[in-house]
Amino acid sequence: VDMYVPCSDGEKRWFELDIKVIKDEDGKNRYAIGKLKNIDKDKKEKHQLIENATKDLMTGLLNQASFKQMTMTVISKPGTFIIMDIDNFKYINDNFGHDVGDEVIKQVAQIIKESCRQYDVSGRIGGDEFGLFLLEITDQGQIEKICERINAKVSAIKLEDNFKKVTMSMGATITTGNQSYEDVFRFADQQLYSVKKNGKASHRIAKI
Ligand code: GH3
Ligand code: MG
Repeated sequence: VDMYVPCSDGEKRWFELDIKVIKDEDGKNRYAIGKLKNIDKDKKEKHQLIENATKDLMTGLLNQASFKQMTMTVISKPGTFIIMDIDNFKYINDNFGHDVGDEVIKQVAQIIKESCRQYDVSGRIGGDEFGLFLLEITDQGQIEKICERINAKVSAIKLEDNFKKVTMSMGATITTGNQSYEDVFRFADQQLYSVKKNGKASHRIAKI
């Protein structure tokens, strides 16, 4: 058995416990020999590898592949799928530098994360593009509030040029649980495209 135990220095570490029970002639348990092996380094390295493979390193959100994988496990239930894309992000990069662009991406990711519940699925699915699946939320008014709240927080991100606000465009699909990931994604992407064409900085929600 693997155990995660507190050590005398206050740190918790992983140990593997091997126990052999020795019986006497009558078949009764006589005593047990235990071997405790420190597997902390192994365990933590393995955990780190899994983390690195599923997470986007810059933002800590799921990466594109694992976002798709996670969403596919919940897409058989009703919910809302949202694609979000930062508006005029090239302008931000060109005028404030790539580092500021990176910082904006990180802050947007943080805002998305704190705007949804622990069991919703959020990921970075492109350079300045994010995906969100809200489980069991299918009420248009509620979805609008979530989108508006995210864009309000995003537009509060401070850039050197106080006149320029960061905004996002969002395309949302309300799903019934009977559609494939590809269909839902394509439909949300169409809504996003329509927002981009009509002035950006807003959201469009449609039932599939
Ligand atoms: P639109 O409003 O239509 O979305 O226009 P846009 O300028 O945001 O353009 P688009 O979404 O097509 O392009 C996103 C740009 O983001 C392209 C790429 O140079 C930049 N980008 C992609 N990944 C990163 C990143 O990790 N960091 C930074 N700083 N920029 C990135
Ligand atoms: Mg963009």
